[in-house]
Amino acid sequence: MNTATDKTIRNGAASPHPLVSAHGRQPAVVRARGLVLGGGPLGVIAGPCSVESRSQLLDLAHVVRESGARGLRGGAFKPRTSPYSFQGLKEKGLELLALAREQTGLAVVTEVMAPEQVPLVARYADVLQIGARNMQNYPLLEAAGAAGLPVLLKRGPAATMEEFLFAAEYVLKAGDGQVILCERGIRSFEDHVRFTLPLASVPHLKSVTHLPVVVDPSHGTGHAHLVAPMARAAVAAGADGLLVEIHADPARALSDGPQALTPDEYRRMLAECQAVAAALGR
Ligand code: PEP
Ligand code: MN
Repeated sequence: MNTATDKTIRNGAASPHPLVSAHGRQPAVVRARGLVLGGGPLGVIAGPCSVESRSQLLDLAHVVRESGARGLRGGAFKPRTSPYSFQGLKEKGLELLALAREQTGLAVVTEVMAPEQVPLVARYADVLQIGARNMQNYPLLEAAGAAGLPVLLKRGPAATMEEFLFAAEYVLKAGDGQVILCERGIRSFEDHVRFTLPLASVPHLKSVTHLPVVVDPSHGTGHAHLVAPMARAAVAAGADGLLVEIHADPARALSDGPQALTPDEYRRMLAECQAVAAALGR
């Protein structure tokens, strides 16, 4: 009998996705180095959209560490809409992330785009990110799930909650590991934002699963001035953590500059989010 079937029977649940189901379970707490997602305190993962250079990443990693956050994000393999856009530093970017971890102790969260990249990325990452475009790449979900690291799974921009839960189920079924769900916004008719950030998904996911839920207000809005208000709203809605893009010089960022917070804006946002969390007894 496979593990999934076994767990279904033990839970007595008829859920179509028994491993992600909240049924009879304590909320999961995912830990990677000092990063804790779930269980009360707000977990924060911040960093650039893309790893661009040694000094860019190390300077931002120190900003993140000094802010009290414990997770460092940064893409080395970048899924870009245009094949002519910056595609990431690839393994060189992973090496820089590992160097940043060595200097700061931050947990490295970075994207893996293909099943065959999993062994390489897993050698450097503390948490494997699966991007929105790959949420239903089932071989990738299985390879990441079997890698022995927590997986941060981003919601596909056109995926329903049910499809999102099934994607998480693939990851858990493949390896008995841990998953962090990330709401990062969906496609809608609305065009004043890059994506529409549906925050009702936070309490919904918290009620139907035992998995930690993180919100990405950067991709979820696409505009730096909307990031802090939506981050505060995400915390108020019960998010276990935030994934936020920052850059020292957003106008010169090689990807996603318009949605990047400067270090000062990021620190202000974090203080506001901590105040919201404290007001809610977290
Ligand atoms: C990212 O986190 O930089 C990213 C590419 O996100 P998404 O997959 O949500 O578009
Ligand atoms: Mn980005």
